[in-house]
Amino acid sequence: MKDCIFCKIVRGEIPCYKIYEDENVLAFLDIENDVYGHTLVVPKKHCTNILDAEDETLAQVMKAVQKIAKHFVDDCGFDGVHTFNNNGEVAGQSVMHLHFHIKPRKTNDGIKSEFSNPKVEASLEEICEKLKLKEEKRECQGECDKQTVGNVVLYTDGACSGNPGLGGWAAIMQSSGKTKKLSGGEENTTNNRMELMGVISGLEAIKKPCKVDIYSDSAYVVNAFLQNWIEGWLAKGWKGSTGKDVLNIELWKRLLQAMKPHKVAWHKVKGHADNELNNECDALARAEIDKLRL
Ligand code: 5GP
Ligand code: ZN
Repeated sequence: MKDCIFCKIVRGEIPCYKIYEDENVLAFLDIENDVYGHTLVVPKKHCTNILDAEDETLAQVMKAVQKIAKHFVDDCGFDGVHTFNNNGEVAGQSVMHLHFHIKPRKTNDGIKSEFSNPKVEASLEEICEKLKLKEEKRECQGECDKQTVGNVVLYTDGACSGNPGLGGWAAIMQSSGKTKKLSGGEENTTNNRMELMGVISGLEAIKKPCKVDIYSDSAYVVNAFLQNWIEGWLAKGWKGSTGKDVLNIELWKRLLQAMKPHKVAWHKVKGHADNELNNECDALARAEIDKLRL
């Protein structure tokens, strides 16, 4: 990312006090110098935060966080560390490149913890009911024992000019260092149909059973799975909450069919933000619309 501060640090265009580096991760002192040894650990490959990070990136960063934390405690005389990260502006993220903070601590160092809020009014029981991962159960029903032979990262997008109108979809797949791009267009379609077609076409192009991480900015598509709408639709014979037929049934069925061989994990990304592959999908989908205009 051209203008991202941490990408510039990774590329050496902005200097930093380097604490650790490996092939995928860089750790350097936080410029604020508020706590002795306050370190930031960032992936070299840009992503915004943990909400759009790929599994591999997260694993690489967390491994480095652990390594540095151990080094601080084992070799540098600290007694413990805070490790934390902020995701999204509302949560205090000021640099939109994934980073974990490490703040080393010593007994009686006098550093105050940052969160001191009034007690929450809701009970833990209520909170748990609202916040627990309901899809976890579903993921394990038959999903856990699926045998997969590879990992695929699949970015998709759909676009429409007019709704209904001319539409385009795109899918970018990455696996074992290889990238494949697909796109297509249709007349008289809708944005949601194009979003579905992006995912369907991507999945249908994967030849072997894989663990597939799908990244889409379509709340319509992603929440159907993450918020379990699909189970409700299946239970009610493809009727929505108002009792009417769900829209695009044939595409939802095709999607379920395309998912069958794979172990799928859904990720919602923010559209039109600084997620490169999401933006590239958007551009490919829009290019398909332009082709239809010729
Ligand atoms: P956030 O608030 O996003 O969780 O953390 C961003 C951190 O990046 C802040 O603590 C801030 O001090 C640090 N930071 C911002 N710009 C730079 C920079 O150019 N160099 C270094 N080393 N740290 C930076
Ligand atoms: Zn960056």
